[in-house]
Amino acid sequence: MKPVATSPLAWVESIIHDFWQDSPQNSLYPGSEEKAWGEPHLAVASGDDPLFVRIKAMIGPFHWTPAEAFALAFPSLVVLSSELRVISYVLPQTSATRIDQGKEKTLPAERWARSRFYGEEFNCALRQHLAASLSAAGFPAVAPERLPGFDYRQSEAYGLASNWSERHNAFVAGLGTFGLSDGLITRWGKAVRFGSVVARLDLPVTPRPYGEDHHAWCLWYAKGSCGACAPRCPAGAITAAAGHDKRACHRYIREVTSPYTQATYGTGATPCGLCQVRIPCEAQIPGALLARFQDSSG
Ligand code: SF4
Ligand code: SF4
Repeated sequence: MKPVATSPLAWVESIIHDFWQDSPQNSLYPGSEEKAWGEPHLAVASGDDPLFVRIKAMIGPFHWTPAEAFALAFPSLVVLSSELRVISYVLPQTSATRIDQGKEKTLPAERWARSRFYGEEFNCALRQHLAASLSAAGFPAVAPERLPGFDYRQSEAYGLASNWSERHNAFVAGLGTFGLSDGLITRWGKAVRFGSVVARLDLPVTPRPYGEDHHAWCLWYAKGSCGACAPRCPAGAITAAAGHDKRACHRYIREVTSPYTQATYGTGATPCGLCQVRIPCEAQIPGALLARFQDSSG
C-alpha cells in the first residue's frame, strides 16, 4: 500500500512520483519497459517572487508571470500573486541514456532521441496530470506550457524565446543555475528536462541556495575554468567569448539532428543535447563547487 502523504508538499511530491512510477507513458518508446526518465525532484517558488517580473522584463513583454499564466486558465478567479506557487520539477536522463549519448560526437544517441520525443510526451502528460489532480482536490492549477497560448516569440535580447520558460522557473524555484551552454545545472546535473504547474495552494517555498547568482553552479563563471561543453558542440555554438549561440544551435538541430532522428528512429521534436554529457556538470553540481553548497545539497 502506498504511504499516505503527511503534508501538502509530500502530497504534491507523491502525485508526481506516482505518475512517474506508474504511467506507461514514462517509457523510451510505446510498450517499452525502460523508463524515459530517472526519478523526478521538485522545488517550489512563490508566485510573487520578484525574479519572475525581472525575467519578464529581460525576455520581453510577451513572457508570462505566474499570475498572468494562471489568469489565462482561471479568468474569473481573483488571486494575489503571493497566493500562487510555481511547482517546478526536474526529470533527469537515465544513466543508460547518458552513457549512450556520451559516445556520440555529432548526432544524438537513439535513447536520447527517444527520451526527447516520447519522454517529452510523458512530461506533457505529467504537467496535465499534476494540474488536474490539484484542481480536482480544490486547488486550481494550470500547466502554462500546455495552454493554447503557449508560444515562441522573438525576444529583443535573447532571440527566439518561449512565453513560459521552464528553465527560468526552475532557476527561481532553486533547482539550478545556468551554465556556459545555457542549460540549467541542477543537483542531478544538466542532462535533464523540466516541467511546471502554477497552483493556488499554500506550499512552503524552497530555499534558493545560490541567491540570485544565476551562474553559481557553472565552473566557467564561478572559477574561470572548465569550458568542457564548448568542444562537445558539433556546430561550434558554444564559445568562451559569447556563451551559447542560439541561432547556430537551432540551425544545427533544424538542419541536421531533427531530420536524422526523424529518418532513423521515426521520432520528432528537436533532439541534440551533445553538450549536456561528458562534462563535469552532466549529472551533478561540479565537484569543485559542491563544497560551497554542501549545507543545501541534500
Ligand atoms: S561543462 Fe563546465 S563550462 Fe560548461 S556548463 Fe558545465 S561547468 Fe559550465
Ligand atoms: S544542443 Fe547541440 S547544437 Fe545546441 S549547443 Fe548543444 S551540442 Fe550544440
